[in-house]
Amino acid sequence: MDVVTPRTLDEALCLKAELPQARFLQGGTDVLVELNFDRSRPPALVNLNEVAELRGWSRENGALLLGAGLTYAEAMRGALADEMPALAEASRTVGSPQIRNRGTIGGNLGTASPAGDALPPLLAEGAVVLVASVRGERRIPLDAFLVGVKRNVLEPDEIIVSVRVEPSRAPQTFMKVGPRNAMVISVCSLALHADLARGELRAAFGSAAPTVRLVSAPLDARESFPDLVAGAASPIDDVRGTAAYRRHALRVLAGRALERCLA
Ligand SMILES: Cc1cc2nc3c(=O)[nH]c(=O)nc-3n(C[C@H](O)[C@H](O)[C@H](O)COP(=O)(O)OP(=O)(O)OC[C@H]3O[C@@H](n4cnc5c(N)ncnc54)[C@H](O)[C@@H]3O)c2cc1C
Repeated sequence: MDVVTPRTLDEALCLKAELPQARFLQGGTDVLVELNFDRSRPPALVNLNEVAELRGWSRENGALLLGAGLTYAEAMRGALADEMPALAEASRTVGSPQIRNRGTIGGNLGTASPAGDALPPLLAEGAVVLVASVRGERRIPLDAFLVGVKRNVLEPDEIIVSVRVEPSRAPQTFMKVGPRNAMVISVCSLALHADLARGELRAAFGSAAPTVRLVSAPLDARESFPDLVAGAASPIDDVRGTAAYRRHALRVLAGRALERCLA
């Protein structure tokens, strides 16, 4: 298998246009597992680690641009953690230090797992995904970007460049249920934003539907909100938990998250 290493975003776009069946490799924490288990055998890997345009984060007219190559370790600390505390909390729950140093937001979006921990806090903040190809750019709201279990709307020649978020600065939190506290795929997860400025409660949950899902209600619907969240789920029974347990856990998480955000 060939591994090609573009040095710029333009070079990466040209390579992907020439090799649409190639896979992007960022942190490799999902791709290399697939290769090791022989679940995927692409003709080439396009290694994005030298593309500076994908790294880190920046501000743009009051919004934040999170590069696709932003790692969980970076999202957990500093000014970004102050702007997006629920994303920081979610990032702290991902894997181990090694995974948090390598794994990225762009990789979580690329994999599009309903258990992706970066996805609920991004969805609750109304994130928009910026994608590009040699044909041009697209801005896709996150709820339209994710279309099924491990499915997104990326075309074969497109790359995720960044995620744009206008931080609400609402009291917010992220919670995750798993069989233990670290190195787990969530049984279910929830990001809650109590947006006092907009008078709105927003919850996005993971691992309880084919994609992460968003539920919103007026602030004064606090009492019924946990039931609303549990009712919006369409979970399945699997090795990690039953559908009934997931619904129950989401109801409990929503209640606890409300207490934390509205205390
Ligand atoms: C031990 C272990 C523990 C883990 N724990 C967690 C956890 O707790 N929570 C969690 O959510 N995940 C977890 N994961 C999964 C993984 O770490 C995350 O999904 C991570 O965000 C993937 O990022 P990456 O940069 O490593 O992606 P990669 O493996 O490099 O890529 C993942 C997918 O995204 C595509 N891709 C990458 N970058 C781009 C781009 N710029 N444009 C288009 N497509 C792109 C790749 O082609 C591939 O399909 C774990 C994985 C391991 C091995």
